[in-house]
Amino acid sequence: MQDILAHRLDHLNESSTLKMAKMSREMKAKGFDIINLSLGEPDFDTPMHIKQAAIEAINQNYSHYPPVSGYPELRQAIADKFLRENGLSYMASQVIVSTGAKQAIYNALMSILDIGDEVIIPGPYWVSYPEMVKMAEGTSVFVNAGIEQDFKITPAQLEKAITSKTKAFVYSNPSNPTGSFYNHEELKGLAEVFAKYPNFYIISDEIYEHINFTGKHASLASFPEIFDRCIVINGVSKSFAMTGYRMGYLAAKQEIASACEKIQGQVTSGACSISQRATLKALTSDMTPTYEMGAEFLKRRDFIVNKLKNIPGLISNVPQGAFYVFPDASYYIGKQHDGGKINNTTELSLYLLQNAHVSLVSGAGFGAENNIRLSFAASMDNIDMAIDRLAESLGKLS
Ligand code: PMP
Ligand code: GLU
Repeated sequence: MQDILAHRLDHLNESSTLKMAKMSREMKAKGFDIINLSLGEPDFDTPMHIKQAAIEAINQNYSHYPPVSGYPELRQAIADKFLRENGLSYMASQVIVSTGAKQAIYNALMSILDIGDEVIIPGPYWVSYPEMVKMAEGTSVFVNAGIEQDFKITPAQLEKAITSKTKAFVYSNPSNPTGSFYNHEELKGLAEVFAKYPNFYIISDEIYEHINFTGKHASLASFPEIFDRCIVINGVSKSFAMTGYRMGYLAAKQEIASACEKIQGQVTSGACSISQRATLKALTSDMTPTYEMGAEFLKRRDFIVNKLKNIPGLISNVPQGAFYVFPDASYYIGKQHDGGKINNTTELSLYLLQNAHVSLVSGAGFGAENNIRLSFAASMDNIDMAIDRLAESLGKLS
């Protein structure tokens, strides 16, 4: 047998975030003192009342298959959250609960894309969007925004990318990997363009909603003229430090929600029953722990941005949300170390893992070859030490 694997895999890239996390775990297991700034996950523990709800769920025998789309009370709690926090009105039937926001995005793309349909993706983008588009047999159309425009596309750039084949637009706000944030006014400019071209969907990934240093979230779905076309993605991984619970959700018009349920029903069934009960608790309780974590991320943002200024050649942005900085590191490309030449930021990130014992992610997988992504979802001490080590190792390059 010659072709062991499907052609689907020919151009599919491994998730660069997960790859770096895996490498750093492996080095740690070998005894190296690695500081992990690669994986985007809060270092905080899940708040106690949420953990307690998970334990109660086990004791109350939530051990049977849950409904594919999620428990009705959880879907209602999510619909209530959308109304309370975002002013968006959905029926519980329009909400689908999935195994992480990751699966929600994949369900959405699988629901709407036919072969060759175009998906507009502003770059830098989250690594998994183009790869999921490939799996759904669509074609990604990238619209790039550099650091000089704070990594945000303009309405004119958006309009230029729209064709008769455009089927969807997907982005995250606040953004992974840049931490950039489109405020309401900026989204209005984009919404006006979307309104002119009514034949495609808008996937709005708002998983970093509560890690927003401007103090106010903004959603494309809040513009009534495009509300019906928006598929809003969210989850509890970031807001409640629940990455391992694997809980995400989407809300969309009924046909799309029902299509996602159909797809999920043939792939994974309902998401973990215990995690659903914990999520119900998270979404119906006092939000103080979430706000406290957000305040801590802001302190770390200020700290890391300031500290990065001491590294010559790195040009850093000032993120307005999420927990990533995305400096331009092109100054170091072409430089030499003992082992040879650094040809790109992927090699730079490997050099830094080996030499500084700090793991971070090259911008290449995010559509920005010259940049590197550092997560500041790490303790202040670890950030402090990591940047010192990075400075030292970068200083060795000539
Ligand atoms: N969207 C973005 C922008 C992300 O950074 C992530 C990473 N966790 C996800 C979606 C997926 O999150 P999860 O599957 O943990 O809910
Ligand atoms: N979203 C996080 C990140 O970008 C977690 C890893 C992943 O799912 O890709 O690091």
